Amino acid sequence: MIAAFRAWCRQRAAAQLEISDVQWQAAEYALPFLDRLTDDQRTRLRALAREFIVTKEWSGAPGLQLTAAIQLSIALQACLPILNLGLDAYRGWVGIVVYPGDFVIPRQIVDEAGVVHEFDDEVLGEAWEGGPVLLSWFDDMNDVGDVNIVIHEFAHKLDMSNGEVDGMPALPADMTRAAWIAAFAPAYADFCRRVDADEETTIDPYAAEHPSEFFAVTSEVFFEAPDLLLEEYPAVYAQLRLFYRQDPGAR
Ligand SMILES: [Zn+2]
Repeated sequence: MIAAFRAWCRQRAAAQLEISDVQWQAAEYALPFLDRLTDDQRTRLRALAREFIVTKEWSGAPGLQLTAAIQLSIALQACLPILNLGLDAYRGWVGIVVYPGDFVIPRQIVDEAGVVHEFDDEVLGEAWEGGPVLLSWFDDMNDVGDVNIVIHEFAHKLDMSNGEVDGMPALPADMTRAAWIAAFAPAYADFCRRVDADEETTIDPYAAEHPSEFFAVTSEVFFEAPDLLLEEYPAVYAQLRLFYRQDPGAR
């Protein structure tokens, strides 16, 4: 009952958001991978993006004027992976902080001798467990190359749905951990080997950093260039198709 009421409030607030056709079209035009969607899927994505905008708390970091265009673009990209999973997949946190370009996170590591090292980590985005998603915004997304910062960070959020950020999100009942590992482990090992051998890979070599990065990067590729993932790692594609309940390569 409470859940139903909350959903009703959310839908009401979302319906009151004023977004013109021109605004939608401008946001979608800049995201050519949305062209794979059918009319029905696009309509559902817009509705989900509206709800996403009203349920999250948005802020712009100093130097960034948070505009409706930026919110729309982020919402469309963040909602694409959960188009068939629903907004609850992103429950448990509300903040989205948008930075003007890449930003720096101060970090500390303690070495084996117990000495604390402090350094600034330059990042494009970061997802905090139970906390906000931090995203950098570039007016010209070509400035960051073939990287989808939004899909990447929201894949990390899904990965956190069962605790640890380990490249395995909470799986639905019709999937198994064994099948997931059987697909991802050899693909990750193969990819690391290729990156270590300095091979030019069409998938971002950052995916070799950690199994969680492999999941986030292959999720980007799944939605942006599904044919590439199908060709490189078909078993990973098959697991992501089951997980996201979408088949972008068939569209
Ligand atoms: Zn990452």
